[in-house]
Amino acid sequence: MKAITVEPKKPGTVRFEDIPEPDVREGSVLVEAIAAAVCGTDVEIAEGKYGWAPPGKTRLVMGHESLGRVIDPGASSSLQKGDLVAGIVRRPDPVPCPNCAVGEWDMCRNGQYTERGIKEIHGFMSERWRIEPEYAIKVDPSMGILGVLLEPTTVIVKAFEQVLAVGQRAFWEPKTLLVTGAGPIGLLAAAVARLFGMEVHVLARNKTGPKPELVRALGATYHSGSVLDIGFEPDVIVECTGVGAVIADSIQQIGAGGVVCLTGVGSGGIAPRATADIAAAAVLKNNVVVGSVNANRRHWYKANERLGRLDRKWLSRLITRYEKPENFKEALEKKPDDIKVVIQFGEV
Ligand SMILES: [Zn+2]
Repeated sequence: MKAITVEPKKPGTVRFEDIPEPDVREGSVLVEAIAAAVCGTDVEIAEGKYGWAPPGKTRLVMGHESLGRVIDPGASSSLQKGDLVAGIVRRPDPVPCPNCAVGEWDMCRNGQYTERGIKEIHGFMSERWRIEPEYAIKVDPSMGILGVLLEPTTVIVKAFEQVLAVGQRAFWEPKTLLVTGAGPIGLLAAAVARLFGMEVHVLARNKTGPKPELVRALGATYHSGSVLDIGFEPDVIVECTGVGAVIADSIQQIGAGGVVCLTGVGSGGIAPRATADIAAAAVLKNNVVVGSVNANRRHWYKANERLGRLDRKWLSRLITRYEKPENFKEALEKKPDDIKVVIQFGEV
């Protein structure tokens, strides 16, 4: 079968090539791929900045945002041939740490977790893949190709859970949310928050194009300047840019008792203002800054429910480009108007 593979940490090594059929040890459920979406992590892996091949191998099958159709449910009792499924990305570490031991692999403490298409397990960018039944999430067939948006939605569900957990330390009824960044995560975060009736604002760089339009279609407000100029102090900020200045501004602008949840992964940058000033703002307003990554099975379950309640037409506008697997180079290249790029392996 064909697969998109890479030699991790070596730039320019992505290939669409023949590899053996998936090993039965990767799971008893056999799935034919329909789609795999591309995210920033995939681009970093392709650029040689990230990723690990399985032990004893030099190449890794890429892809962690999946959608496929069950060909053979194997030993699984809850799946049937023809079901649409998406695969959970992370697996608990083998020790396991206390959090992995209780199924909270998203909160892994020792860093020895593995991740499909990223860290030591093959991903989903192959014509067929196998998965353990307990890590296959059934997707509503009426979602069609939009089921490939399930994985990014799990990241948001976990982030909101973190925000609400922190908020429980005092009386707190959050009403306003600012999302910084209007990529797939930011836009899906705004959409999910609207489901719960929050007043939602999204801030991003684009002044025109599909992003402001998509935000307004949610009944949310779009901003394109600085976080410091939005004109109100949000109860919650979900930070999706990973940009130093946006993070610092967010910590300054958050309302009293508010929570800033960081989901973006950036690097470097020059401190835009004194750390003690930022800390003093947090102290005097009882703010919490919480980081959030990945998702466990509970978040996948909840994300499936949330995604199913979002407007399908709106969701379909998030996928701005479909590419064939053989065009992996174009798929892994970020273009200005891209929101979500999907590599399509088969028809739904
Ligand atoms: Zn662990």
